[in-house]
Amino acid sequence: MKRGINVLWYGIVALLAVELAWLALPVPERWVELYYTTGLFALVITPLVAVQQLIPISMSALVTLVLILCGLVSALVGIRRARKREVPWRTIAWAGFKWVTAAIVLIHGWFLLTFGVGYRREPIESRLQLASADRVTRSDLDATMDDMLAVITDERQNPEIRDERGALRSIRNAMGDLVLEWDGHEPPLPEKVKRLPDGLLVLFGAYGINSPLLMEPHVDGALPSHAVVSTGAHELAHVAGFSGEADATLAGLLAGLRADHGYARYASALAAYANLCAELNPDEQRARFEALPAEALNDLRAESEVYQRYTRDVTQSVFQPMYHSYLVTQGVDEGIEDYSRGSRLFVNVWQKGLGKTPNESQD
Ligand SMILES: [Zn+2]
Repeated sequence: MKRGINVLWYGIVALLAVELAWLALPVPERWVELYYTTGLFALVITPLVAVQQLIPISMSALVTLVLILCGLVSALVGIRRARKREVPWRTIAWAGFKWVTAAIVLIHGWFLLTFGVGYRREPIESRLQLASADRVTRSDLDATMDDMLAVITDERQNPEIRDERGALRSIRNAMGDLVLEWDGHEPPLPEKVKRLPDGLLVLFGAYGINSPLLMEPHVDGALPSHAVVSTGAHELAHVAGFSGEADATLAGLLAGLRADHGYARYASALAAYANLCAELNPDEQRARFEALPAEALNDLRAESEVYQRYTRDVTQSVFQPMYHSYLVTQGVDEGIEDYSRGSRLFVNVWQKGLGKTPNESQD
């Protein structure tokens, strides 16, 4: 037993050394693409995606709860036993410190394995040989918004036939094809995007979350269906190996627009259109919103109402700077601004014709 414990501690120390080396050393982006993205990542994610599909609710939330409960119970049992043997409090505190440190090292190691390493991938601009997001011309922006408006107008459906599940299924397939085309491997992607209780994410200013524990995509349950679809596409992009926000925004929009389901294309075009409106001045924004068909305007209003209902200044002011700092520490220099970088990159991709599947391009 004692030997087993010692091996465990040596393992934890070795893992800590690997994690510190990862944080301190400049690992070439090419290595990340070569050994991680198409190697280790693909290997790790396969069983995770299979397991999370076994239940319809969030398995990540369930596993987290069970792990916390197990940790608390074993800590209490350990303390009780130690006190019976009259072990001094100082020794108990030291043991507690060691176990908490071990837990942090393990959690961080797991995070790096499933998600964190992906932040150091080669920037998507250089992988796809795109112009920088800072170099979006006004005419490209206008042309892309016109194209999105055309998709929105063509694909708008009656609310009663809006097929959220079918749309997400077709985005999942399109995402698989996109990654195969860009990265040369087809990632296993989940069938379902899980819903969390109404307002739980919007409270913090987020619509969706991909849990690195099981690479399980989630959306806020309060979102209107078009936002479930576009947010689901973004979270599926994270599961597919796009850790950075700009990359996931770009891949999510493209997979949605390439999907063979009209509602997927509608929701994605509307998300792209609304994101790109943020690049315009207030008068231009107003004109662009007025140009939308009534269904699309109603959808954006419903989305805004959900946001107003659940979001709180106090959670926003604490969470958003924290999230920004988190992204910066992971190597995303622009932090929260990385989302809008993704939308601007989308303009460059769309104007380059990469928004079409290889089959469509041949037509
Ligand atoms: Zn994201």
